[in-house]
Amino acid sequence: MKKNAACPPLPSRTRKKRRLVNPETLPAPTLDGSCFVVSSAERARLEVQLGLTSMGLLRALLSRALSRSVCPISHFRCGAAGLGSSGAIYLGTNLEFNAAGRPLSETVHAEQFVTASAVSHGEASLTAIAVTAMPCGHCRQFLQELPAAAAMRIVVPKCSSSSSSSSISDDGDAVQYDGTLGTLLPHAFGPTSLGKGCVDAAVRTPLALVADDDAPSSALIAAALAAAERSHAPYSSGQAGVALRTRDGTLFVGGVIESAAFNPTLGPMQAALIAMHSRGVAWSDVVEGALVEVETGGRGHALRFADSTRALFAAVAARDSRFAVHAAEVTVEAV
Ligand SMILES: [Zn+2]
Repeated sequence: MKKNAACPPLPSRTRKKRRLVNPETLPAPTLDGSCFVVSSAERARLEVQLGLTSMGLLRALLSRALSRSVCPISHFRCGAAGLGSSGAIYLGTNLEFNAAGRPLSETVHAEQFVTASAVSHGEASLTAIAVTAMPCGHCRQFLQELPAAAAMRIVVPKCSSSSSSSSISDDGDAVQYDGTLGTLLPHAFGPTSLGKGCVDAAVRTPLALVADDDAPSSALIAAALAAAERSHAPYSSGQAGVALRTRDGTLFVGGVIESAAFNPTLGPMQAALIAMHSRGVAWSDVVEGALVEVETGGRGHALRFADSTRALFAAVAARDSRFAVHAAEVTVEAV
């Protein structure tokens, strides 16, 4: 949880506070109809229209990200905006699940939100992230899963966030930090430390459901299976994906993104909730969910996310919702 953004106020006579671009005045981004994703073409158009650099636009969009924070426990809003190597922008914010007393460890940090959104859109890497508070140690570690993480630019505008405000302001181009992730986390422990590769959105691990007569074939389960195939689980081999169906039939999916340090791992349920939040869809609209997970340690052994996913699902979904878990195994695709 970020608690370190309390910037001491500048002396009033030297303070040149200006409001960042009002997010409401920004044209709606177009990629996937998402208000939290800005396509590369839209980014370029906005930069010309607003006279901003890419980093300037990331900073301008922080208000939009911050305004969507869900922080009933900390009341600390955090926003982040990441620039993908494709040129698209991904916004993120912190999500806390307090409704049913879920543990703090299930919290999603803004940088994790950005990363999950980028990966789900097939982004190869993030080249820069603007964030309203200094990245915590948890996020500095989580970001190590991305390719070229050490070179990723991190910018934290000076006095950029407030624990209670839904908007932000800053002091022109002043920054609290502008440097690389490698400087923030030197001598990092990451995927290569364990002989593994970074997140690769293009990689798919072929999976098949373990024979289960009770497992109906449905678009929901197929979506969860596909999300598991695209998930990042090089350390446990426990590929896992969640699919959520809303009342109008829309499906949202997410896959686990494991961390080399294990604890910062982002679960598949959180990733699916991120996908919903990105599209402005309420979690309470969920009426059905499915988790597809590879059994680790052989058949009949542990499903790492079954219990926690079921509990988090029950905490956020509609009262009459249904949830099911399906085991999967790695298979070899027919050529
Ligand atoms: Zn963090």
